[in-house]
Amino acid sequence: MIKEINLLDEYTINKIAAGEVVERPSSVVKELVENSIDAKSSKITIEISNGGKDLIRITDNGHGIPKSQVEKSFLRHATSKISQIDDLYELDSLGFRGEALASIASIARVELITRTSEDTIGVKVCIEGGVVKSNEPIGTSIGTTIIVKDLFFNTPARKKFLKSSTSENINITDMINKLCIGNPDIQFKYINNNRIMLTSPGDSNLKNTVRSIYGKKISDNLKSINIETDFLKLVGYIGNNTIYRNNKTLQHIYINGRYVKSKLILAAIYEAYKGILPINKHSICFLNLSIDAQKIDVNVHPNKLEIKFEDDQRIFNLIKIKINELLLGTNLIPKYVVNN
Ligand code: ADP
Ligand code: MG
Repeated sequence: MIKEINLLDEYTINKIAAGEVVERPSSVVKELVENSIDAKSSKITIEISNGGKDLIRITDNGHGIPKSQVEKSFLRHATSKISQIDDLYELDSLGFRGEALASIASIARVELITRTSEDTIGVKVCIEGGVVKSNEPIGTSIGTTIIVKDLFFNTPARKKFLKSSTSENINITDMINKLCIGNPDIQFKYINNNRIMLTSPGDSNLKNTVRSIYGKKISDNLKSINIETDFLKLVGYIGNNTIYRNNKTLQHIYINGRYVKSKLILAAIYEAYKGILPINKHSICFLNLSIDAQKIDVNVHPNKLEIKFEDDQRIFNLIKIKINELLLGTNLIPKYVVNN
């Protein structure tokens, strides 16, 4: 017999979507911290226990969610960040899909406490597996705290695929390091199983942020980069010829504040370091590229970090030449002698 076509209900849709947005504890951390960043927080605390499987708690001092909007924020495609497709070209936030809270709440037990400067009292909402269990007033300071407990409690098949706490912790730490480096103006505090793992200064100084995470040996051997052309701005630091790694873990590239994996930029960097670093060693870089949102495709999948540029070759050449120049300490752009 041919089966009837059903329209899936919101609950089922959310659970399916959660499979994409929430792959593992580190993706929950990423989504929630990005929300705190978008809320213009200057201080974000992340607390984890048991690899994020038992508890993820994010506390921020951002603008909070108005009391009347809190339950709405858990609906799928509910976002305050865009209202029409053209807004994507002037995007100044990390989020815009309105999927994270709905997805996370559908596969965990979530508690959200929030207050805006307009409200005199805050609100606490508890949601389990996508169902609102309670919504009550609570005294709290301005900002948002979100607690995610028992990840995948209602999807045992997915829970089984989680790795050991140690392995999930490695991913979480890596994710927090990336968020921290990308936001030197924010003070991050990261606590794992009651141990303080990291406190970043939040003084807007990228070098100090790098030092707080990777130590003095790295931060003392960086060269500052600051390129500005008519269509892009590239600022940050690259490692000199004395520091390098056996792996690619210290290659941080951001575009308009968003962590990306850009094959193009990395290829330009590897070219620039050719002959400067030993073979099979990897350079270190902390770079933020600011580029007109019209010239890139931001509408990529949340978990795919590759970014598309309008003018690949121009970006490649510029980065390669400038970094190489900086490493060699000379101006490599040829000066042509004009013969009359
Ligand atoms: P998106 O970030 O794509 O908008 P989310 O599902 O992550 O979607 O969040 C939904 C909405 O909830 C956001 O657009 C924002 O208005 C609100 N929100 C979520 N987290 C916070 C937070 N920490 N501070 C203030 N507002 C928040
Ligand atoms: Mg979000």
